[in-house]
Amino acid sequence: MSIQENLNKITVTLPKHVTLVAVSKTKPVNAIMEAYKAGQRVFGENKIQEMVDKYDVLPNDIQWHMIGHVQKNKVKYMASFVSLIHGVDDIKLLEEINKQAKKHDRIINCLLQIKIASEDTKFGMTPMEAKSLLLSPVFSELKNIKVVGVMGMATFTDNQSQIKNEFTLLKTTFDTLKSFETFNFKPEIVSMGMSGDYELAIECGSNMIRVGSSIFGERHYN
Ligand SMILES: *Cc1c(COP(=O)(O)O)cnc(C)c1O
Repeated sequence: MSIQENLNKITVTLPKHVTLVAVSKTKPVNAIMEAYKAGQRVFGENKIQEMVDKYDVLPNDIQWHMIGHVQKNKVKYMASFVSLIHGVDDIKLLEEINKQAKKHDRIINCLLQIKIASEDTKFGMTPMEAKSLLLSPVFSELKNIKVVGVMGMATFTDNQSQIKNEFTLLKTTFDTLKSFETFNFKPEIVSMGMSGDYELAIECGSNMIRVGSSIFGERHYN
């Protein structure tokens, strides 16, 4: 099936309140253009340099989401245009995003990445750490970022009930944190679900899914 067919197959089944982030990492600009022509405007990348290169040559009404782990020293390259940073898991990174956003006189939206998987390799904060961050004096000084929700990745497993428990943990964390809303914490987004598990994620309360291979085909790394 073509990229457009893959996309349509997914979008027709999505509830209205769910945003689809088309994960285009490793895929060429012509693949992104095919999805763009089918109406897709939100794309996710996990490497800053790759996202910048694509941003430079693609239509400027695309919303670029950074879904990967972010190195502090590279924030400056995307600060002028990035529309949402999913993987924020420490206050130092948030301070750097704030600093770079200020230079461009804008507010950058971010999600706190919560560790819900049992694997060691996944980044993220515990729900308690997220709460402390949101209540910290340092956070209350950051006027050029806005935390608009949470993001998580389930364990890479076939065990559906484990995945369901992990998604439910993220949704519960989101609901709990909601009561700490402030001027720069406006919780609206629960980013969870990928090609293999987005339907389950939506059942568990996701309103933003990040889907790559089901749209663009398998990725080839070299
Ligand atoms: C690659 C990636 C995805 C998409 O994965 P697929 O299984 O191809 O849909 C989603 N989220 C993150 C954080 C990713 O790195």
